[in-house]
Amino acid sequence: MDNPTQRYRLMTQAGFFILFLLAPVFDLFRLDLNLKHFFFLGMHWTLGLDDFVAGRIDATEAALRVVLRGGLPILGTIAFGIWVAWKYGRLYCGWLCPHFSVVETINQLMRRAIGKQSLWDRHLLPQKNADGSITRANPLYWLVLLPLVIAFAFLWAIGLLTYLLPPAEIYGNLWHGTLTRNQSVFLMAGTTAFFVEFMFARHLFCRYACAVGLFQSLAWMGNRKAMVIGFDRSMVEECADCNAACDNVCPMRIKPRTIKRMMFTCTQCGQCADACGKVQADNPDGALLQWVQGDCALDKSVRDFGQHIDLPAHCYDSNKKKK
Ligand code: SF4
Ligand code: SF4
Repeated sequence: MDNPTQRYRLMTQAGFFILFLLAPVFDLFRLDLNLKHFFFLGMHWTLGLDDFVAGRIDATEAALRVVLRGGLPILGTIAFGIWVAWKYGRLYCGWLCPHFSVVETINQLMRRAIGKQSLWDRHLLPQKNADGSITRANPLYWLVLLPLVIAFAFLWAIGLLTYLLPPAEIYGNLWHGTLTRNQSVFLMAGTTAFFVEFMFARHLFCRYACAVGLFQSLAWMGNRKAMVIGFDRSMVEECADCNAACDNVCPMRIKPRTIKRMMFTCTQCGQCADACGKVQADNPDGALLQWVQGDCALDKSVRDFGQHIDLPAHCYDSNKKKK
């Protein structure tokens, strides 16, 4: 992986995946069903209403605690997330989300096993990659793919369980083989459900079932000048010699040269632009795809409404200067 952007992205994804598994262990964030309250940054996160029940504070103080300890942190986090998505799109999905890391890893292995990123893709992908290397499908990769999907499914199931019950108890019981009946049932059902989802419906989940993704997409669509993967149409003839490397590489199975509405679930991973950069490595005018925003993003978004605009001349200059 020689592209610095993709290297940074891999690091943020790996870091967040580790955080996802360790946050409950260090009480950074979890709900404790035994204690019936949250932990946050190592502290007990309660609304503090026990004092009201015991008569130590009055109703005004209790209402203030609900707002300050519950309403403000939750609404503030949501508002910040929506602002980021409004301006930059589904950055959380492409750069942090532990589910999307799994999606991408399984996609890559599936391509090696069956020549497609998803079981549901109609056509095999070309064997030639953007950098000119060749990837031939080899069914032996199923021997890696299946155990890995099971491992991911189990990790997710046990990770989720530790967001609900004390991690020390869960990992301790697992280590000593003393899981309770309910804990075992949760782990078996969770592993099975995640296995099915990871194998057959991982893209469908990101597209249609994830509320975090959906609200980011909606916020993003509400801003016509938001950051988006732009397509330099003045160079469109360069695509004639390409096997649609940008389409082939997209983990969400989107066509990055299309209008913004058709890229509703774009996760801003930047792999399409990276692929185009490799295809056009010898072209002094650089890649046709790159992130754009502001007025330069309008070309993508106003086409949703059948309009065409003249792009400011500078929009794709940075690509050309790099060469
Ligand atoms: S369109 Fe490009 S940036 Fe968006 S998900 Fe696909 S590869 Fe990633
Ligand atoms: S935009 Fe780039 S990667 Fe996509 S088809 Fe055209 S030349 Fe190929």
